[in-house]
Amino acid sequence: MTRIVGRPEDFAAEAVAGFSNLYPDIVRSVPGGVVRSQPKAAGRTALVVGGGSGHFPAFAGYVGAGFADGAVCGDVFASPSAKRIAGVVREAERGGGVVLGFGNYAGDVLNFTAAAETLRAEGMDVRTVAVTDDIASAPAERAHERRGIAGDLTVFKIAGAAAEAGLALDEVEAVARLANERTRSFGVAFTGCVLPGASEPLFRVEPGRMGIGLGIHGEPGIEDADMSSAPVLAERLVSPLLAEAPRVASTRVAVVLNGLGNTKYEELFVLWHSVAPLLSAAGLEVVAPEVGEFVTSLDMAGCSLTISWLGDELESHWTAPSAAVGFHRRRSAATAFDDRSAIAAAPAPSAPSTTARTSAADDVVDVFARISRVLAENEEYLGRLDAQAGDGDHGQGMARGSAAALSAARAAAQSGAGPRSVLREAAEGWADRAGGTSGALWGAGLAAIADHLSEETPITASDLVAAIDAAVRTVMAVGGAVVGDKTMVDALVPFSETLVARHRAGASFAAAWDAASSAAESAAAATAQLLPVRGRARTAGARNVGHVDAGAVSFALVAGAVGELFDRADHKKRREQ
Ligand code: ADP
Ligand code: MG
Repeated sequence: MTRIVGRPEDFAAEAVAGFSNLYPDIVRSVPGGVVRSQPKAAGRTALVVGGGSGHFPAFAGYVGAGFADGAVCGDVFASPSAKRIAGVVREAERGGGVVLGFGNYAGDVLNFTAAAETLRAEGMDVRTVAVTDDIASAPAERAHERRGIAGDLTVFKIAGAAAEAGLALDEVEAVARLANERTRSFGVAFTGCVLPGASEPLFRVEPGRMGIGLGIHGEPGIEDADMSSAPVLAERLVSPLLAEAPRVASTRVAVVLNGLGNTKYEELFVLWHSVAPLLSAAGLEVVAPEVGEFVTSLDMAGCSLTISWLGDELESHWTAPSAAVGFHRRRSAATAFDDRSAIAAAPAPSAPSTTARTSAADDVVDVFARISRVLAENEEYLGRLDAQAGDGDHGQGMARGSAAALSAARAAAQSGAGPRSVLREAAEGWADRAGGTSGALWGAGLAAIADHLSEETPITASDLVAAIDAAVRTVMAVGGAVVGDKTMVDALVPFSETLVARHRAGASFAAAWDAASSAAESAAAATAQLLPVRGRARTAGARNVGHVDAGAVSFALVAGAVGELFDRADHKKRREQ
């Protein structure tokens, strides 16, 4: 149970604020995360890491001399938005380019990639490295699809030390990739975890059992098994990792035994007592091992074992000192962290442009008011659907995103913006606050609709139909999903195809929308038959058949609710005629 909570929706932001207040010598709070309070010398390569919150010391605790230059902290278990990532990177970058490190989750990949593109367009050299250490999340031949867990620590620590040592961007990127290729983790969970403000755990592990290979957000693992004694558990963790040892001449390895948040250090020490002999029996020389909490999962009980095969290229970076709050390593040699210079002034944000207010702008606000209401009403339900295959945050993300979209739309309309700008602001607000894969995709889709609308003239039915069709294509291009992948795309495509067809056949807009939203609703229900191939649900595989896709259902709910507005407008028009 997460017991200490202020406003649940502010949990992550308040945690970062409290953390920065505690360690002013090491971190400085910036919008979206933290950066070093004493930046390294100008011209050096920077490392910025990040992801959802709930994993401390990942990621804010990784910031400090010898380790990361900045950390982007999303909401609990939700990727930070591209805008926040770009904002933190602008504060952390020192003129030598930046490596962005994150775990391989669909939402993080989307948002970090989009942020990298934005920053490159501004002239910054940005490289992205997604950590893929969890061997339980995909077979070896699809290793690039694996998710990132406690391997984040070794990969990011090694990359951060390489950057601290003065290596150029190309070299730091190469070191980070090499570390990732040589890092494998495997974990077990004993209990679920409870999101701040929730009363029920996100998922359950039956008492006396353990989830083998379960992900750090409760994503499904390989199997359930009876709880075992420490020596048996040690064997269970060590052997699959050794079976996947990369081809490296050296036998020297970094090893991390990581607690997930609710497992005692003493229990971890007991486990280490059994793990260490297995490693030496396998001929491995363990270098500077770590036992403790490095990548947690709220209050989940459980642990994971990570092995990084070092070779000569990586060992000195692993053993180099670190002054990060969550990862202290005393200076081994005469390495000095004396690169202290002033923080470059952040660029001033440019003011959004506004044009004459029209009633169409108010209509856009009304639509978001309706969307935000239906998503708030269904927050718990959508969370439950997402928890069946994903991480359970879809309800929160959609409620948060649509509420932010509504306030952004209101503010824009009040300042006299036209429909296009109002929708653009709403799209940005949504992407910024929702987090997660669906947040990035909804933001991209809404922005695409805005691009198709005019700022001045009233919106016609034909404009809107064409704009929605374009938005669906944008979502598919950005997310890479097609019909049948068990995502929101399964509801979007029949929706827009029906809308286009009915509109062409001469139906009223309200009637065409009704038919389209019924098509979306049936298609969302039909996702229960599908096997997931995208997003977090992917790792659930066959176990997910029988459950509907949360993102498809939320889209159908939104379509239905918005349809009521059009119906009402249609009736009113007919009455007036
Ligand atoms: P996250 O998976 O990052 O936690 P959410 O829980 O908010 O994000 O959203 C999950 C939903 O996002 C899924 O149910 C699915 O409909 C949708 N989704 C995931 N990946 C994709 C993708 N590549 N393309 C389209 N939709 C996707
Ligand atoms: Mg989710």
